[in-house]
Amino acid sequence: MNNISVIGAGTMGNGIAHVFAQNGFTVKLIDVFQEQLDKALATINKNLDRQIAKGTLSEEAKQATLRNVTTSTSVAEGVKDAELVVEAATENIELKLRIFQQLDELAPDGCILATNTSSISITKIAAATKRPGLVIGMHFMNPVPVMKLVEIINGYATKQEVTNKIVELSKTLGKVPCVVNDYPGFIANRILMPMINEAIYSLYEGVAGVEEIDTVMQLGMAHPMGPLQLADFIGLDVCLSILNVLYQGFGNQKYAPCPLLVNMVNAGFKGVKSGEGFYKYTPGSKELVTSNRFK
Ligand code: NAD
Repeated sequence: MNNISVIGAGTMGNGIAHVFAQNGFTVKLIDVFQEQLDKALATINKNLDRQIAKGTLSEEAKQATLRNVTTSTSVAEGVKDAELVVEAATENIELKLRIFQQLDELAPDGCILATNTSSISITKIAAATKRPGLVIGMHFMNPVPVMKLVEIINGYATKQEVTNKIVELSKTLGKVPCVVNDYPGFIANRILMPMINEAIYSLYEGVAGVEEIDTVMQLGMAHPMGPLQLADFIGLDVCLSILNVLYQGFGNQKYAPCPLLVNMVNAGFKGVKSGEGFYKYTPGSKELVTSNRFK
């Protein structure tokens, strides 16, 4: 396998293109917006420079990586030679179903169609195509060039040989693959999101403040960052939408999103991306939100 197409050049798409290109694959990065493609190339460039500064990459390897990536705003052009497509477009079910119908028509027969979705059913996405056996979840973690895990999700119809190929491919990228089955939230978010939700409930019920909750989990459990700050980094809107997938998917009250999270998202407090969530963010720094909002 050599030709990889990546659909969506946002946060995850640029990272996925980066790791494939750095490992010698030919990558077509596709987005509806030229501006997103330009931004993605600039980010890849900057992240490669960071690797050089750390001494983990040579200037020649950087140039080779950049040569391996080309961009396109046309899906037809971008996937015509693909052996694997990794879709990393916006987390929206209607959009993903449309993209997979389109990919099924435009990508060569035999091309594997993977999705980086955090929470949408792989089985449902696969059912939008005429090749459900070739559809699989390939869930990279953010930031992709740094994080080792790839959660590989088998849809109901995914063929074993496809899973095996994606496992081997992930190892080629220097990642550690973990194969799981397609149920709401898979493993990563089924376990992470209830923890984040419980942290928000603890704040909502006045058990402790933002700083105390995050410090207990950071220092007590050796987590690199507390759950409330992690929620800010993931995006509170994203957390809410994943919790709703779990809540609806299992029909169990224990996944019901905390009303404080719902209020914050409705008010536009989405975390780092909007400048404020449980903390306030200015470029290069974070500040605890100490207003009465959490009292
Ligand atoms: P993002 O909003 O940063 O980027 C999405 C990109 O998709 C945008 O550039 C947008 O222009 C593009 N896009 C939208 N419709 C398109 C189309 N029809 N064709 C081509 N491009 C299209 O989103 P993101 O955070 O990179 O997330 C992408 C996927 O990865 C989502 O499914 C998300 O759940 C998943 N994911 C995100 C994270 C994370 O931490 N951000 C982690 C793991 C998985």
